[in-house]
Amino acid sequence: MKLLPFESNLWEIFTGAYGNVCEEVRIIMGDVDKIPPQTKLRRLETEEKEDVQIAYDNLIENLWHQMSFYPATYLAMPYLVKYLEKKEAAGDFDGQLLVISNMGIVLATDFPSNKEERILKLEELESGEIIDSYKESIFILQEKTKKFLDTYQYKIKDLDPNTKSEFLTALLAILGDREAAHVFVMSGWQEFSIFCSHCEYDECIDFSDLSDPEFRKMFTPASAKPWDLRSFDDTFIWYSHVLRSLGADNEADILSYCYGTFTCPECGASGIAMDFMKCCWDMYD
Ligand SMILES: [Zn+2]
Repeated sequence: MKLLPFESNLWEIFTGAYGNVCEEVRIIMGDVDKIPPQTKLRRLETEEKEDVQIAYDNLIENLWHQMSFYPATYLAMPYLVKYLEKKEAAGDFDGQLLVISNMGIVLATDFPSNKEERILKLEELESGEIIDSYKESIFILQEKTKKFLDTYQYKIKDLDPNTKSEFLTALLAILGDREAAHVFVMSGWQEFSIFCSHCEYDECIDFSDLSDPEFRKMFTPASAKPWDLRSFDDTFIWYSHVLRSLGADNEADILSYCYGTFTCPECGASGIAMDFMKCCWDMYD
């Protein structure tokens, strides 16, 4: 995995939502002698923070703004892996949790139908080292995430619901299906958009009462299957197992409906619910 030198002019081309992210990356990597004062991009956030933390938040905001994909992610991800390594070496649980959760949600923006034409062209032009390093950084992130999960299972179990939910969603993006993770980010694990391409039925459906008869008319859950503890190919199998083992039963129940069968109330078409949920992104293009 290669880190793009800070002098490279590619930082001007591979930008984030607000432009060049080189300064933020340099700050978090400790490459500046004196950190210039940072202005929060998340203006509504009131918590007092040091400039280095604000630079970190601003970097992440540049990479996931409105859950679009930004080319800066290609350059920043290898650095974020290095940053994660520092947190790991220091045995910093909260630091690792934050970086893994953030990197996962950033990865949930990276799937083909979420990329604009100009980004696909940029990938073609500049493919090679940058994209290779990016892919390598994801591989390292996957290994580190598995290790983190093994080491801290009991601490993760005890996290507050919101922090835990974000981490669990990140986990899906890192180890499995990024587009499905995007669905969970956008739905907040509650309000899922469903689109039927057969009849253009288009609804936002509340998953907070899974026993509601109206809900049960449309959704049938998938039944649990054993996991070999190794393969991450079948999202429903490995992810429901991990969710249960981390005490996230509510998320696991919701997952079984997302990977169960949905029957369209308008035209009667049926299939795996997640496919009807993923359909929505293509519709907004
Ligand atoms: Zn339909």
